[in-house]
Amino acid sequence: MSDQYRFLLSEADLPKFWYNIAADLPTPLPPPLHPVTKEPVTPDFLEAIFPREVIMQEVSTERYIEIPEPVREVYRLWRPTPLIRARRLEQALDTPAHIYFKYEGVSPSGSHKPNTAVAQAFYNKAAGVHALTTETGAGQWGSALALAGNFFDIDVEVYMVKVSYQQKPYRRILMETYGAQVFASPTDRTEVGRRILAEDPDSPGSLGIAISEAVEAALTSNGKKKYSLGSVLNHVLLHQTVIGQEAIKQMEMAGEEPDILIGCIGGGSNFGGFTFPFIKEKLQGKKDYRVIAVEPTAAPTLTKGLYAYDYGDTGKITPIVKMHTLGHDFVPAPIHAGGLRYHGMAPTVCALYDQGVIEAVAVHQRAVFEAAVLFARTQGIIPAPETAHAVKVAIDEALKAKEAGEKKVIVLNFSGHGHFDLSAYQAYLSGELQDYAYPEKEIQKSLQKLPEVNL
Ligand SMILES: *Cc1c(COP(=O)(O)O)cnc(C)c1O
Repeated sequence: MSDQYRFLLSEADLPKFWYNIAADLPTPLPPPLHPVTKEPVTPDFLEAIFPREVIMQEVSTERYIEIPEPVREVYRLWRPTPLIRARRLEQALDTPAHIYFKYEGVSPSGSHKPNTAVAQAFYNKAAGVHALTTETGAGQWGSALALAGNFFDIDVEVYMVKVSYQQKPYRRILMETYGAQVFASPTDRTEVGRRILAEDPDSPGSLGIAISEAVEAALTSNGKKKYSLGSVLNHVLLHQTVIGQEAIKQMEMAGEEPDILIGCIGGGSNFGGFTFPFIKEKLQGKKDYRVIAVEPTAAPTLTKGLYAYDYGDTGKITPIVKMHTLGHDFVPAPIHAGGLRYHGMAPTVCALYDQGVIEAVAVHQRAVFEAAVLFARTQGIIPAPETAHAVKVAIDEALKAKEAGEKKVIVLNFSGHGHFDLSAYQAYLSGELQDYAYPEKEIQKSLQKLPEVNL
């Protein structure tokens, strides 16, 4: 054990392959279904939305997929990212636990999201696509795709959830600075958006609605535009596995074996990207870790959702996938962690939860910010509100270790910084931040509208 704080890899250590957990899942993933016919989707349906290479990755069961050199070249602007021991936080908690965080906030847009945005922009450019459409919640994904689109010379059109558009003007300006166009969703630019505005002109929007709008914009573009998703799908989690692969090497440098791995979950991409390379060892029986996914009580997908086939979007135009879901028209309360306001979850994460390989916990907004402020005051870094969910549970586990008098090694994925989320911190510091009760009734109601499938 050294007394080191930061565990840094060199550029030569940047992973050359992404790790595909589909190769190691105990049972194969249930197939995605066509939204209308409800038959397993065919590649040509997906090709209206995604380039072929991305679809191949989506359905691949190859264990390792090579990272193209132009993608690695962009990764080198900020990767490998540091792994940092949170010694000052440990001291403040007076815990025997060791807390490490993998810091993804060093990317140009401030989160893990460029890891997949860069890959997707590359494959779309290679396929001759002119523009990408997408949704964004807090603006992290939109900024990442705007950045990547700029590097690979592709136009980017972003449907931003209205509540975040209003709360986070600086994220919009960042996207526009990178050259993207940004719209507050629901918009009147799409049929789905117009329908929702007619029912509820004050709709705060949701990721589900914004996804419908972005997909519709691609589908109605005569092939000029394709859609790009920042989470949930297999290929997105695949691209994020550079995080976990680096973290494994860095924990070796630190000379410690993790006991507990923690990540926040919105659609599951930073959690999956960080934990899957570790879970590979667990599935192969070589290692044993507790792996904890942290979600907000306002969108408690794993802890309260149903494991069932559902649409990925509110407008019912995306494929139906088997996942834990709160129902496709569930609209989460407007918590500040916009990136966690999603009704569904990555099918791979859900399969692992269903099989008991990972655990999940839901936490309230105020407790999350309390943890975030403690982190900021000890480690200096202001967590994104999403990331703060993981910080909260890492602190809880460190306090449990203290009570039990055990030295646990806790590693969390620090998915992004919160420099664009200071209005949320202001609300917390001024005592105005509210908690939302578990939306039990709303969940029961929206779960009644799951599609019927014959499988
Ligand atoms: C988008 C985002 C998340 C949630 O998305 P996942 O796909 O679940 O990772 C978490 N943290 C940050 C900083 C984000 O930007």
